[in-house]
Amino acid sequence: MKNHLQSSEWGLNLSNQLIIAGPCSAESAEQIEKVCLAMKEENVLPSLFRAGIWKPRTRPGSFEGIGEEGLKWMEIVRHHLNIPITTEVGNAAHVEMALKHKVDVLWIGARTTVNPFAVQEISEALRGTDIPVMVKNPMNPDLQLWIGALERLHAVGIDKLAAIHRGFSDAYDKRFRNKPNWSMPIHLKREWKGMQVINDPSHIVGKRDGILETSQRALNFGLDGLMIETHHDPDKAWSDAQQQVTPAQLKQILQQLDFKTPLE
Ligand code: PEP
Ligand code: MN
Repeated sequence: MKNHLQSSEWGLNLSNQLIIAGPCSAESAEQIEKVCLAMKEENVLPSLFRAGIWKPRTRPGSFEGIGEEGLKWMEIVRHHLNIPITTEVGNAAHVEMALKHKVDVLWIGARTTVNPFAVQEISEALRGTDIPVMVKNPMNPDLQLWIGALERLHAVGIDKLAAIHRGFSDAYDKRFRNKPNWSMPIHLKREWKGMQVINDPSHIVGKRDGILETSQRALNFGLDGLMIETHHDPDKAWSDAQQQVTPAQLKQILQQLDFKTPLE
């Protein structure tokens, strides 16, 4: 998938890894613009800009996403950064709106990957398109469910596929928001040769500290990219405030990572 997405006329060119960055949620046109301008100022250009438009919250009562209006703001990203954009889809209506607004890459979230009916519905809505799709691991450590979701997309003709390793719910683990279970992404790469697996340290760690360490582990295990939630003012973010980093912090993380020495 990397080849379809690389675009770097400027910006840090530290690796040929796929680096995805952007806020957890799109909040306003102004917020999207501020994140883009801060990335430009820091000269840190991701391969792909992420922003959640529909937010699947575990419990009701918190911000559930701005909806279709936010897709229009993605033009701001194209204007300032000239890079492709990605957002999460959870049903066929989301797919239809995302395609209408020319989102470049879609992803399926962890709470959707667990549901084969939803994944099948999304797959049917994508039949006949060749948009790249990234599939986050399911909430629970079930490799077959993760592979099954990728297979459903593949079966309707989507062949630009990647997986995202965002960790697994664990009631007892206090260190991680979602436990990494590194054997899962490694086994996925063994079972599906050529599948790129992108690590999402933000949702694994759940707080800013530790993102560097988890990212380095992912690179050491031979994973293929990083998705790091990035906001111009993380403490004021409408979702996942504790784990988002500023573009300046993103740059520091990328500069400190050793991209060259995978263990395997
Ligand atoms: C997100 O990427 O903001 C998100 C909701 O992710 P996940 O599905 O991994 O919880
Ligand atoms: Mn998030």
